[in-house]
Amino acid sequence: NRSDVHYFGAGPAPLPTAVLEEAAQVLLNYKDKGVGLCEISHRSPEANAILAETKQALITLLDIPDDYDVLFLQSGGSGEFSATVYNLVAIWVEKKRAKIAEEVGDNQDEVLARLRKVVDEELKLDYLVTGSWSLKASQEAARLVGAKHVNVAADARKANGGKFGAIPSEDQWSLTPRTAGGGPALVYFCDNETVDGVEFPAFPKSLEGDDAPLVCADMSSNFISRKVDVRKYAVIFGGAQKNIGNTGIAIVILRKSLLPPHATPASPDLLRQLNLSVGPIVLDYPTIAKNNSLYNTLPIFDVWVAGQVMLGLVNAYGTKRIGGQEEISNEKARSIYDTLDKYPDVYRVVPDKSVRSRMNICFRVHGGDADKEKGFLAGAEKKGLLGLKGHRSVGGIRASNYNAVTTEGANLLVKYLEEYAKS
Ligand code: PMP
Repeated sequence: NRSDVHYFGAGPAPLPTAVLEEAAQVLLNYKDKGVGLCEISHRSPEANAILAETKQALITLLDIPDDYDVLFLQSGGSGEFSATVYNLVAIWVEKKRAKIAEEVGDNQDEVLARLRKVVDEELKLDYLVTGSWSLKASQEAARLVGAKHVNVAADARKANGGKFGAIPSEDQWSLTPRTAGGGPALVYFCDNETVDGVEFPAFPKSLEGDDAPLVCADMSSNFISRKVDVRKYAVIFGGAQKNIGNTGIAIVILRKSLLPPHATPASPDLLRQLNLSVGPIVLDYPTIAKNNSLYNTLPIFDVWVAGQVMLGLVNAYGTKRIGGQEEISNEKARSIYDTLDKYPDVYRVVPDKSVRSRMNICFRVHGGDADKEKGFLAGAEKKGLLGLKGHRSVGGIRASNYNAVTTEGANLLVKYLEEYAKS
């Protein structure tokens, strides 16, 4: 029975029971229309209202300024690894083309020749690789634009025995220098690494300032779990299936100055001539924004679930907005980490203390002894504490502390950790 268990899965992840109960209803019959929510048109007034309400809930929660847009796509988190590259490289190229055209005038052959050289020598995408998801994003960038254009500005494995679990200090980063009209096409980082349990404690200082680069951040696994100064980012994205809703949509918060008429992407023809790949239309931010996320069939049920979850937080925390959730998330994480730290002979938290994720708490039991960890998981399951197995690539234990994990659930986990350590 649902009320007998607490689920700590990393994604898909638990959702508020009240939302799921209502979801079951609206699947059959939405607003007494006799038609279910998966059956109505994504262009119906009902769908439009759901979309508007969900957008507004996110804007309220995160205090998203007017000069940002919110997009919904079916890309998953991984699709946004590609979308950020396609969209920001196209803008970078067009800026360079316009500048060269200003200098050399109408001679298209000359413009193209110069642009080729500039792309070849100057196109850089900076990645801070702090775990397996930012690693994957950087690999996708290399696949799309070529490895020589990808600058891994930091690789957290280097000073950490070849493993993830730390974030190198900023003075160790080798960011592409910012220059007037130059600099990298984007700087990318993953705010919370789901597999490795590493979270940026704060926005990186070296990415701030008047000439700040275009920062893209993957917040798939810590979206709406703490306050975010949206203005520091060009693009924030996340798949819905952890803190926000069910699998099926990704949400993008995008600075409007990256959309027409403020910014123009290079034409597909030009990108092809430069041997740069052209992205699919469903990942094209200007197209999705122009169509209010309804360029093609948006799964409105998924948007509805996300909207209900977010409205629940808006109602619960009032003027505190996401700060209310942040306090609870921090407190749940603190009590679990404190318990783990209390028994160093039994438990070892994987990441460095300074970068411990509040969302994905990764630890080993008895030095990672396989049988003992199996026993730990079996004991937890007996108590109804589910989904604690670490990611298959790293093993160990991972307790995901998303918003829908209740304080009661976290307390029961703490109790089990105590009992196991003493037994
Ligand atoms: N980024 C992060 C931080 C993730 O945790 C995940 C999925 N676990 C992804 C990206 C990929 O998301 P998706 O499976 O929706 O493509």
